[in-house]
Amino acid sequence: MRSIVLVLAATSLLACMPPIGDGQNATSVTPDGEFDPGRRDNNGDNNGNNNGDNNGDNNGDNNGDNNGDNNGGDPSDLLQPGSACNCDSECAGTDQTPGLCFQGICMTRASRRCSSAGSQVECEEGLRCWGAEGQDGSFCWADCDAFNCDGTCDGDGSCIPDSNSSCDSTCSEICNSGSGGGGGGGNDPCEGVTCAADEYCAGGQCYERDMDIPAGRIPGCIDTLPDLADCSRGGGNNACSELIQFDPRQADGYWDYPLNGETERDQYRSWARRDLMLLVRYATAATECLTEQWDYHDYRPLGLGDMSEENGEIPGTRENQPGHPEGTHVNGHDMDIAYYQVGTPNNVLRSVCEHREANGQDAYHCTDEPVYLDAWRTAIFLAYLHDNPYLRVIGVDGRVGPPVNDAIRQLCASDWLRGKSICRQSKVTFETTNQQRGWYYFHHHHLHLSLSAGIGR
Ligand SMILES: [Zn+2]
Repeated sequence: MRSIVLVLAATSLLACMPPIGDGQNATSVTPDGEFDPGRRDNNGDNNGNNNGDNNGDNNGDNNGDNNGDNNGGDPSDLLQPGSACNCDSECAGTDQTPGLCFQGICMTRASRRCSSAGSQVECEEGLRCWGAEGQDGSFCWADCDAFNCDGTCDGDGSCIPDSNSSCDSTCSEICNSGSGGGGGGGNDPCEGVTCAADEYCAGGQCYERDMDIPAGRIPGCIDTLPDLADCSRGGGNNACSELIQFDPRQADGYWDYPLNGETERDQYRSWARRDLMLLVRYATAATECLTEQWDYHDYRPLGLGDMSEENGEIPGTRENQPGHPEGTHVNGHDMDIAYYQVGTPNNVLRSVCEHREANGQDAYHCTDEPVYLDAWRTAIFLAYLHDNPYLRVIGVDGRVGPPVNDAIRQLCASDWLRGKSICRQSKVTFETTNQQRGWYYFHHHHLHLSLSAGIGR
């Protein structure tokens, strides 16, 4: 039995983390963004099919994520044992020894109960088996001489969490302060921080409060939401990885309308993994329920754009016109989704900003403030998308990111989003200048949502 007394109460050091990535350092969250250096040069010859003028094309004609919007190799994104982590889904493992983020350090579960303390047979190479105080089950701890250790090495030469280790208890099963056993206690980075009356605290810092932050009673919604985890990670019937056609077309606060050559009877670009469909439906339902009473603008269903084709191919492949770069929008991992809007007839995919240069040339990104963006509802939606730990990344336009992040911070500091995982680690990313990560272009009319496959697919 390994003692983990050292790390108990260590999670209060979470206060050091900024609550929201600023987009510039989001590579630490999503190491490869959607960028593939090998395809950077494709920018410009964007398949031709749906790269037309999208100014005012209210059916959401999609310019395609043609700027290196790439899925990356999911498994290689995962962190090695011994690495610092926030969520279980970040840690590498195998089917028999799934990765987990143990109090902020990656290790794996053991394939079965340790046959003896420090045994190797239940673990992959470079890890050894011990239990852990206060935890059921057996775990494989990384050997410090086999892996880089972001924690500290104990007397057995195993990598264990140290006082700097922190984790996110919403996506990490073994992550708590030790005091209350359920996380949360002693976790508030704003404890002891006093802000002025017109300021709010986030991540231990004071920010100016937006006087437009939606007010009113927060409705109880959790019990009314569709289940976001109603699928099997182990495959078989109801597998999370199975591609299904988004159905029904309109319900729960979303609208999967025909676009990019689809018709009502032929929505061939609307196939997604079951877990992705469940997640989107859950997040739009949450946004609808929570924000129905917001009086600055009525709630309207959120438009869903390209996903994959039935056989997992890039949308448009059937017509010999794949609308996205190779490696993206395949196998149902990715979905293009409209922004919630104000001052427009509905929430279909459309530009939320001026996107032309002074000379009238389409810039394919926002060149001015996103005046049609409903940042508050978009923030709520993005927050609830973070409830699936397999969320990989959400890419938005460089002019959309800052106001959305500000709205997220404000809502995190209020009761609207208090305690949500996005308040501790956001996977929303963007480029305010072109850093060649693939987000700078073609996201002025939609956000791009991507799930990682996760262990066991
Ligand atoms: Zn996309």
